[in-house]
Amino acid sequence: MTPVLDENIEAIYQQVKSRNPGEEEFHQAVREVLETLGPVLVKYPEFARERIIERVCEPERQIIFRVPWQDDRGEVQINRGFRVEFNSALGPYKGGLRFHPSVTLGTVKFLGFEQVFKNALTGMPIGGAKGGSDFDPKGRSDGEIMRFCQSFMLELYRHLGEYTDVPAGDIGVSGREIGYMFGQYKRITNRYESGVLTGKGIGWGGSLVRKEATGYGVVYFVREMLRTRNETLEGKRCIVSGSGNVAIYTIEKLHQLGAKVVACSDSGGVVVDEQGIDIDLLKTLKEVERRRICDYVKYRREAVYQPGGNIWDVPCQIALPSATQNELNGRDARTLVRNGCIAVAEGANMPTTPEGVRVFLEAGIAYGPGKAANAGGVATSALEMQQNASRDSWSFEFTEQRLDEIMTGIHTLVSETAEEFGAPGNYVLGANIAGFIKVARAMLALGLI
Ligand code: NDP
Repeated sequence: MTPVLDENIEAIYQQVKSRNPGEEEFHQAVREVLETLGPVLVKYPEFARERIIERVCEPERQIIFRVPWQDDRGEVQINRGFRVEFNSALGPYKGGLRFHPSVTLGTVKFLGFEQVFKNALTGMPIGGAKGGSDFDPKGRSDGEIMRFCQSFMLELYRHLGEYTDVPAGDIGVSGREIGYMFGQYKRITNRYESGVLTGKGIGWGGSLVRKEATGYGVVYFVREMLRTRNETLEGKRCIVSGSGNVAIYTIEKLHQLGAKVVACSDSGGVVVDEQGIDIDLLKTLKEVERRRICDYVKYRREAVYQPGGNIWDVPCQIALPSATQNELNGRDARTLVRNGCIAVAEGANMPTTPEGVRVFLEAGIAYGPGKAANAGGVATSALEMQQNASRDSWSFEFTEQRLDEIMTGIHTLVSETAEEFGAPGNYVLGANIAGFIKVARAMLALGLI
């Protein structure tokens, strides 16, 4: 059953729905946060008086623009670009760019909304934003990707700046795309402004560990969740959905810490490798050769490829959804619980449907929502900004140590907040409330903005 909202909060939610028609993912993300905020308004009546929730649900600025570009056949293509600058109470807008045909304004808004609270949890001085385009990079040549990125930046550049708005990557945007966009920004502005984008390459302003950070951070978060239950990762059987940036480095760190990942996936199907996913092979296929996961079994004869398979049917102790939103539903959650899963942590943003979340919470398993569990990526982006600002570059070990401390700190903050608000072990409630309070306090301090 869907939880009932507090009367005042229900009115706010209905207003969000009617002001943002058809943006179902945004409604879902807002509702999930609002469901947990009732006790906060009781404890802090000034937040209600100053209408902080209503203000937090309304982006500060939304930019939608045309992105025309020419494909390799000389034909003109038109895409739509978005940047939703959601909240800058804690620092410059910060959040990734997603290039995927499914991207709509509602997608970008849901991601931007989540980003506000996630960024607050990191304790770093960054506001929240998200952007992207309905451009599909699959099957496009390097030249096409470059021309698209240049056209995209030709409009977006005027909204960016190291103290204004600092994008990074997300689905379909990694080092290659960041490079083309950074090059175009530099050319238009005649400024080598390293801090305007994060996820840059090593050697031209990027930070060591940024590529690995989201996945590594998720695993540190799982380690901490297990620690509270006197468990470790050693010998645990894991599954990780997706096979992109987040999935690859989640798998790598799980293996380093003694767990065994037996399955991963992409939008075409699932690979099951009972010997443990071969991370070097996966990296070569995905990062170097940009191939599909089905090719994995050509090199590992003991592995099985299930076209169109459902990864959540593979029995495991720990599940890490790391592909996309709403990829794990109520049925999948029940299957995982029935198969003995003890922990779930979200590498992806909002990968679990509301029904799935309820199943995990009711079953009492350790469930780390994306806002908390995948915050290591943006936290390390903020470390990249620090290095750029001081024209310094830190070692891998030092940066990874900082990431570990940040993730451990987020786990502590979220657990303590859950306990303070009477729901020990509920990381959803803890993350929403802890993130919201930080943003709300800053908004109060800054006056009516
Ligand atoms: P990538 O583009 O590197 O990889 C995405 C992976 O997810 C691919 O395997 C892709 O498969 C799969 N996927 C994407 N869309 C779908 C879909 N509609 N159905 C099934 N599979 C899909 O992206 P990232 O790894 O960077 O991002 C993955 C998730 O992590 C996203 O939710 C993102 O928002 C989140 N995230 C990313 C951060 C980062 O630092 N990159 C930080 C925090 C969160 P296919 O190739 O077949 O499309």
